[in-house]
Amino acid sequence: MDRRHFLGTVGLAAAAGATLPLVNSCSGSKLGDVKESYQADLLVVGGGPSGVCAAVAAARRGVKVLLVDNGNCLGGMGTKGLVGPFMTCYDASGENMIIRGLFEETVDRLVAEGGAIHPSKVRAGTEFTAWIKEGHDHVTPFDPEILKKVYDRMCAEAGVKVLFHASFVSPIMKGRKIQGAILLTPSGLEAARAKMVIDSTGDGTVAYRAGAPCVFGDPESGRVQPASLFFRINNVDTYRLIAEVEPHLPEFRRINSVSYRCLHWRVAEAEAAGEWDLSRKSVNIWRSVEKDQWVVNCTRIHGVDATNCESLTDAEVEGRRQVEELMNFFHKYVPGCEVATLMGTGSTMGVRESRHVHGDFVLPVKDLIDGVIPEDIIVLAANSIDVHGAMGGPAGGLYMQIQKEMYGVPYRCLVPRDVEGLLLAGRCISADSPAAGAIRVMPPAMAIGQAAGIAAALCLESGATPATLDYADLKPALLEQKVFLG
Ligand SMILES: Cc1cc2nc3c(=O)[nH]c(=O)nc-3n(C[C@H](O)[C@H](O)[C@H](O)COP(=O)(O)OP(=O)(O)OC[C@H]3O[C@@H](n4cnc5c(N)ncnc54)[C@H](O)[C@@H]3O)c2cc1C
Repeated sequence: MDRRHFLGTVGLAAAAGATLPLVNSCSGSKLGDVKESYQADLLVVGGGPSGVCAAVAAARRGVKVLLVDNGNCLGGMGTKGLVGPFMTCYDASGENMIIRGLFEETVDRLVAEGGAIHPSKVRAGTEFTAWIKEGHDHVTPFDPEILKKVYDRMCAEAGVKVLFHASFVSPIMKGRKIQGAILLTPSGLEAARAKMVIDSTGDGTVAYRAGAPCVFGDPESGRVQPASLFFRINNVDTYRLIAEVEPHLPEFRRINSVSYRCLHWRVAEAEAAGEWDLSRKSVNIWRSVEKDQWVVNCTRIHGVDATNCESLTDAEVEGRRQVEELMNFFHKYVPGCEVATLMGTGSTMGVRESRHVHGDFVLPVKDLIDGVIPEDIIVLAANSIDVHGAMGGPAGGLYMQIQKEMYGVPYRCLVPRDVEGLLLAGRCISADSPAAGAIRVMPPAMAIGQAAGIAAALCLESGATPATLDYADLKPALLEQKVFLG
């Protein structure tokens, strides 16, 4: 019996409620046995924006890279989470693009495929920024489906071996040195051995399980930023929506850290009618690349622990409930959105904050505020400090625009304490909670990933460890890959 015929027979039997024959998995081990499956120079765990850039950067230096992700596509929050646009890649003056390298290449490829509007053309205070002015100049609206393809191609061209549906379970350790990971795949448990590993899981899961010190959220306040389920809508009459919002722009304000911005007057109407119980007082709605498509960042779920399955499950259900309430709101209260259609919700909850892995140096928010450019700089950025829910109230947040032109992220933040052979990339790097609130957004996360990939390649080439790698070697390698360092 051929495979198609066999599957057809099984399908029919299931439909008829018959007992199915028991079959052994064709390729897999029984759970408990670990199959020796992969050998690489570098294992990158997590295929979000930082992981993709880490993998591509290292592979372009000739490193044999294995990139694993527990989902079905690359891009992490930017694709599965539907999060967007890319926050600013410019300095605070709005004059100079300072995040370049693989981020810029990704944007250029997206633009060439009609999947993004170039940030040079997008200004603050417009429909592309939910009409927010502060810190939102030159964002990049993009289409998440096209981003998936762009990342696929970048990895394939660089020779990165990608595995989807592969969850990191535990590190393979020899003393304090990480030597790969056990993955749970559809085949069972599989070992991926590697000389070095990059943790780009967002949650710092690899570093945590390997024994690096981690803190959860902000230990001072005991809080973690709220999570949000993103969603996209279309069939919006964009001209009418703009005509509804723009006359109200002078009324946009913040009172006691609560934003009264886009559509706050309509939220007040819905609230008065008992048809609004969300914690925000306005609606963050961002125009996307196609004229009638908008991205909505408005759900808010407090106290989510992204390292706890039950907490995440409850959050996903509550997120969908809030999306339903918002769709009803759009249909009933918002001109231009009467027949808007829900295109889809993120296939994963949007987690802003969970673990911060600690290295010898923990980036303090003060350095960002003071515009410190460290000696071992790997990334220049000017993203605002954006800590949702920082004040503990239902809607209050800390939002602080950068006063200096830019600040720098040091290489030291990528090196965890107590584990050898491991580098950090993206949201989980060694930074305090409010500093992470600035550099967690996708352009710096991608630049940090690129630097981690290059650093890993240099360690493999020279025999240095992440802790002993000489910045004098790292800097020219960053510049060679078009990273902007001032
Ligand atoms: C609600 C919300 C709104 C945001 N808004 C914006 C915005 O407008 N603009 C912007 O630029 N940024 C925004 N951000 C920030 C940004 O999206 C993330 O901080 C950024 O994607 C972090 O990149 P990362 O690579 O570190 O992690 P992620 O994007 O989270 O990627 C991590 C990847 O690792 C995978 N993974 C995790 N654990 C495992 C495991 N055990 N095994 C295998 N794979 C694993 C995940 O599935 C995921 O694909 C927002 C974030 C959130 C949550």
